[in-house]
Amino acid sequence: MDTEILQRARASFLGLALGDALGATTEFMTPTEIKAQYRVHNKIRGGGWLGVKPGQVTDDTEMSLAIAQAIDTADGWTLQGIAENFLAWMRGKPIDMGSTVRKGIVNFRRTGSLEMPTNEWDAGNGALMRMTPVAIFTLGDEQLFKRCTLEQAHLTHNHPLSDVACLCVGAMVQAALQGADRFTLHAMARELVAGYPNFQFTNYQGLASGYVVDTVQTVFHYFFTTASFEECLTGIVNQGGDADTTGAIAGMLAGAFYGFKSLPLHWLRKLDRKINNQIESLVPRLLDLSPSNQGKERNHTMEAGKIDLDEAAIRLESTPLNVLMHIKRKLLRGEEIDGRWFVEVTSLENFLTERGNSPKENVCQSSCSHKCPSCG
Ligand code: MG
Ligand code: MG
Repeated sequence: MDTEILQRARASFLGLALGDALGATTEFMTPTEIKAQYRVHNKIRGGGWLGVKPGQVTDDTEMSLAIAQAIDTADGWTLQGIAENFLAWMRGKPIDMGSTVRKGIVNFRRTGSLEMPTNEWDAGNGALMRMTPVAIFTLGDEQLFKRCTLEQAHLTHNHPLSDVACLCVGAMVQAALQGADRFTLHAMARELVAGYPNFQFTNYQGLASGYVVDTVQTVFHYFFTTASFEECLTGIVNQGGDADTTGAIAGMLAGAFYGFKSLPLHWLRKLDRKINNQIESLVPRLLDLSPSNQGKERNHTMEAGKIDLDEAAIRLESTPLNVLMHIKRKLLRGEEIDGRWFVEVTSLENFLTERGNSPKENVCQSSCSHKCPSCG
């Protein structure tokens, strides 16, 4: 598996979650209200109309994970599996759900149908917000990409403007994963505008609603007028409106483009750890199953499923030195590669699960004299 692509794919999925968590605070606010309350909203602080906890994500990330988990379980594309996961997600009473999404899932529950009829009111951004797993899983096969994009979209949204937005942004994410530059991505955005002038984004009017045209204009405006992941995401969530979703879509694109190292640590540290872990274990699987990996040896998940000490420390809310000590004490599995230490993600997850997911209390801190539960 190409390590560079893997890093960008992780950044794309994590970027989506970060944009969602960040934007949930300012969803449905106006830029003036945001300014009055926060001056600049640039921290993951929770709140908003949904009253989310700091780092908590919403439907945008949860539905993307539902797609990724269905692919993981089936070892490949499964529209039926995705629909079933959506239904299970709805039954779990999610914190938020769009009305078009609800209609689509209820339709599947009632009729078993995997496609909504076309509807002129279904031009929301709900299919676009879950494009990351599709872009990663179909990398390397354009026909598969198009088929999977439209199939997943039509489970809930069947509208030509939603379709072309999903295809364009999805293709841009794929190009960014493969290292495309800004000019290439801009040309792809202009191509969408050439075919569908509604999407014109050069004279941005500040509309950031859930209408897919407004959403795409907002995402393109902030992506192309900023120079880092943090600047792009901060700009877009301070625009308010459907801020968690514009944040999520900008996050998937900017994450893929700027790469993992561009994700601000102070945001990553705040992200819901369970969500973070799910993303980290699913992204290598999606890539492993993708056509881009065809002909190459499968089951690279273990090789790909390693993170360095700094990242492991973030996830354990500990220090790199402590993580290394945990490896030495065989509490975590890890190995040294070219002078750098890496931790296996699965062993990290097991460790967190065994410790009841409360790392702060259980992971040995530097002040510990190694009589704590984890050090024995
Ligand atoms: Mg949401
Ligand atoms: Mg939203």
